[in-house]
Amino acid sequence: MSLNIMDGRSLAQKIKESLKKRVLSLKEHACFPGLAVILVGENPASHMYVEMKVRQCQEVGIKSFQHILPENVSQQDLSSLINSLNQDHQIHGILLQLPLPEHLNTDTLIDQIDPRKDVDGLTKINIGGLVRQEKSAFIPCTPKGCLKLLETYTGELSGKTAVIIGRSHLVGRPLVQLLLQKNCTVSIVHSKTHTPENLTCQADIVIAAVGQARLVKKSWIKPGAAVVDVGINRSDDIDSGKLVGDVDFDDVASVAGYLTPVPGGVGPMTVACLLENTLESAERWCSWTS
Ligand code: NAD
Repeated sequence: MSLNIMDGRSLAQKIKESLKKRVLSLKEHACFPGLAVILVGENPASHMYVEMKVRQCQEVGIKSFQHILPENVSQQDLSSLINSLNQDHQIHGILLQLPLPEHLNTDTLIDQIDPRKDVDGLTKINIGGLVRQEKSAFIPCTPKGCLKLLETYTGELSGKTAVIIGRSHLVGRPLVQLLLQKNCTVSIVHSKTHTPENLTCQADIVIAAVGQARLVKKSWIKPGAAVVDVGINRSDDIDSGKLVGDVDFDDVASVAGYLTPVPGGVGPMTVACLLENTLESAERWCSWTS
């Protein structure tokens, strides 16, 4: 079977083109969508992700407000900042870039974000809303991006079997809910699963969100299956410095029917979904206040 690349970059670009039109129409009603991004410390990867998000906000016409805080910021100061952003009418989305330094309580801070501005979908209210399939719930950006890739490139998902590798709150767990809602039969494997490949090799869809370079080999994949690679790892071999996924792309490309590249797959979709959620939030706020 021939391989189809699930190109996240081009799909994200199409989404952003449609967002630009929605931003213009909001601005005609004197509503100016705004996203606040909070970044703590010096983590280079986090700085790179924030720069990318800020640049793409600009591209679609969303105003971004960056709050860069020192590594040793206190829980109380961060909490006060979140409270003030909750009250700020210019802000429709609040993004707390993770991971936070260890002395901070991440869950407490996330839950302080007004769920109506939680465009990352990580507060317990939005997680509960996802499970209960409430329309108002913001869906976490990476799982939402994975779903859009699968639906766009592979078509109808109902009745398919899916195995998710990784059970994080950010990716694996929300994906279970999203795929169940699409009538997939879903399994999840994780670090304590014995021989995860025995499950993945039977699945129509495999999504890898682990954080281990090139873990998934062709023997893990059923011929013709759709494989979504969420992982972002720095390769430490001969191509050192290169970004690689959790899937061994060249190996898996010989059996998969559909495959996302790294970079250029899930990454751009995550950012596009963040912008989409922010705009959705701005549209809601503006309809309430107009
Ligand atoms: P995490 O560390 O929170 O979770 C990793 C999961 O993998 C855990 O549930 C663990 O049980 C599981 N795991 C570890 N070793 C395993 C193994 N050998 N077999 C099966 N499961 C195993 O990570 P995360 O936040 O979910 O991120 C996962 C990867 O996705 C990372 O590389 C991260 O950088 C990347 N990521 C990418 C994007 C994007 O936009 N592309 C967004 C978020 C995360």
